[in-house]
Amino acid sequence: MFRASSNRWRWPHALVAAYALWCWLDALWLDAPYGYDLAAGIVVAGALAWATFAMRLQGMAPAICRVRGDTRQIFLTFDDGPDPATTPAVLGILARHDAHATFFLLGEKVEAHPELTRELCARGHTVAIHGYRHSWKSFLTPRRAKDSIVRAREVVRAATGRAPIFFRPPYGVVTPATAIALAVTGMRLVGWTIRSWDTVGWNSPDAILARVVERLSPGAIVLLHDAPERAGARAPCGPAILERLLTAIVESGLDAVGLDEAALLEL
Ligand SMILES: [Zn+2]
Repeated sequence: MFRASSNRWRWPHALVAAYALWCWLDALWLDAPYGYDLAAGIVVAGALAWATFAMRLQGMAPAICRVRGDTRQIFLTFDDGPDPATTPAVLGILARHDAHATFFLLGEKVEAHPELTRELCARGHTVAIHGYRHSWKSFLTPRRAKDSIVRAREVVRAATGRAPIFFRPPYGVVTPATAIALAVTGMRLVGWTIRSWDTVGWNSPDAILARVVERLSPGAIVLLHDAPERAGARAPCGPAILERLLTAIVESGLDAVGLDEAALLEL
């Protein structure tokens, strides 16, 4: 049976952040010397940044970053699609290896390519959402964050007849606004165990593949991309390494599957 690695609030992190914030405000109220205000402010900013950018620390919201249990399964995830220029090749490679994955889709691309979204479902992959647009603006306020999630969820529902339950925010950034939007919409936050960095240019595809392969382990969630985040953005090398990655997965005795909505919902 599945068990997500951590599906509860990590209260110590929230308490540390709250304590730092309180110290800062108290220093301001006490009219403490400037250096104390500054130091406390840096601690507050650091605590917030820590919780915002490191989803696995669960500082803002509970996130599924690994699936534990008696399993030989591994969970490939693809962000930023669907894109008719790149996604069909990914689907073809997955089918050849009898593998399944989870796709974190952008609402505006689903709207543009509903047939491709339906094909993802028809092929047995798990469909999840990555927000309506790939924009940092979507995590500025709770209302914007909620609207992005709800809009993406609705276009996927309109295209496939199924409402997704998993959400991964653009850039993996979880702000307080994102956390509130998750609570309001009931979506489950999904992070990753292995980040491939397949959209950055400083590593060769071979180096990226080697980095992912050496970290393969049962229950790991692997972050890949099947499309550039928007037209003109750098094309990810995830599709180019997928064939060799799936071979390595099989050689490791692992089975690539999609995240199981029914099993993970019960957590
Ligand atoms: Zn993305």
